[in-house]
Amino acid sequence: MWSRLTILSEAVLDLLFPDRCASCGRVGGLFCAACRAALRPYPPAPPPPGLDAVAVAWCYEGAVRRAVHTLKYRRRRRVAIALADALASSLADWPPGDALVPVPLHAERLAERGFNQSAELARQLALRWNMPLRADGLVRARDTGHQAHLGRRARLSNVAGAFVWRAPTPPPARVVLVDDVLTTGATLDACAAALRAAGAQQVSAVALARARAPGTLHSLARPPGAQRGASCYNCTRKRTRA
Ligand SMILES: [Zn+2]
Repeated sequence: MWSRLTILSEAVLDLLFPDRCASCGRVGGLFCAACRAALRPYPPAPPPPGLDAVAVAWCYEGAVRRAVHTLKYRRRRRVAIALADALASSLADWPPGDALVPVPLHAERLAERGFNQSAELARQLALRWNMPLRADGLVRARDTGHQAHLGRRARLSNVAGAFVWRAPTPPPARVVLVDDVLTTGATLDACAAALRAAGAQQVSAVALARARAPGTLHSLARPPGAQRGASCYNCTRKRTRA
């Protein structure tokens, strides 16, 4: 009886509130096929300092940017399921590891939003990749505020020492950090430092997308090994400098 009622009420809820695309609002799914098809793969790039490897699916723009905004700022937690699904099918390869560790939010930010988007993504990826999840150890001990307006150097000093490993058992030897959007990599660098201090030997990261650092246009310093005049690390457009 109850299960029939549950099925019935879910059907009614689906009719009243059908899933809408987190990017374009089209009814029928949380991230529609047209928006997924428009995503631009992130070009292979060396990992940011502090990380052994990084896997980034898309350039942070258009559909993925709108979907991430819907997830984080309109607090539609279920969008993480669709984004993790798209991420898992888009990445042919991801860094090897013993467990996924989400980049933590500060307790105040977590209370504000109600969930940690990186933890939601990590939970979904753990299911798809059949990898353990360790969401209990890494803590953001200090609120680092919004970093959107800061360049890499300012971000580095802003997040230095902000993370700490607080679980009774050490982190796994090979950690794969999960973040929603990677910009300069300063946050991941600080997370990796805390993990290594607690005993991790290898720290890699997976992110949905990589954003351009503010104020740099296509003129970020060349990553190590990149050719002079190579394309922007973020958007593949030609660099305007160096
Ligand atoms: Zn769409």
